[in-house]
Amino acid sequence: HIHTLNQSAGALEATLALLKPDILANPAFVDSIINDIQNSGMKIALRKQVFWTQGQAEQFYAEHRRRFFFDRLVKYMTSGPVEAIALSGPNVISWWRQKMGATRPAQMRMTNPTCLRARYGLTDTRNSFHGSDSVESAKRELVFVFGQPAYKQIIL
Ligand code: GDP
Ligand code: MG
Repeated sequence: HIHTLNQSAGALEATLALLKPDILANPAFVDSIINDIQNSGMKIALRKQVFWTQGQAEQFYAEHRRRFFFDRLVKYMTSGPVEAIALSGPNVISWWRQKMGATRPAQMRMTNPTCLRARYGLTDTRNSFHGSDSVESAKRELVFVFGQPAYKQIIL
């Protein structure tokens, strides 16, 4: 029974995955990554292409405002459209973070060569993917991109 399966597999969660502008510049990459997600058993609840203004990118990454990489991060994230994907499934927050790998692609190519950032990431800034890091971040980020009513639907 589905209820029992979900309990044994972990908490049902939602997360925000972003395919950053360098991925969208290559439509074949988008198709391959979306296929990968669909074959995983995790659910794509919503998808939306967004093209952030500087203000929107600054708001999304507000926690990093004082970091040395903030300006280049905002410039990167406003250099082209981004594919926003609301994923749902058991433990999907950590599932997607593991699938991406950690922040730095060059380091991942040494330690975790099959993760997405190792395969697609370009630099520490242009690392091709985002994933929410907690239930609270996921809620804030999903509401930011898709709005509160859509978020309520996703977590039903
Ligand atoms: P994430 O959760 O792995 O995406 O990493 P963070 O939340 O710490 O940082 C947000 C984004 O800022 C990362 O995905 C990178 O695009 C960028 N970033 C983080 N740390 C660094 C860094 O040390 N150097 C540079 N150049 N960019 C960074
Ligand atoms: Mg983060």
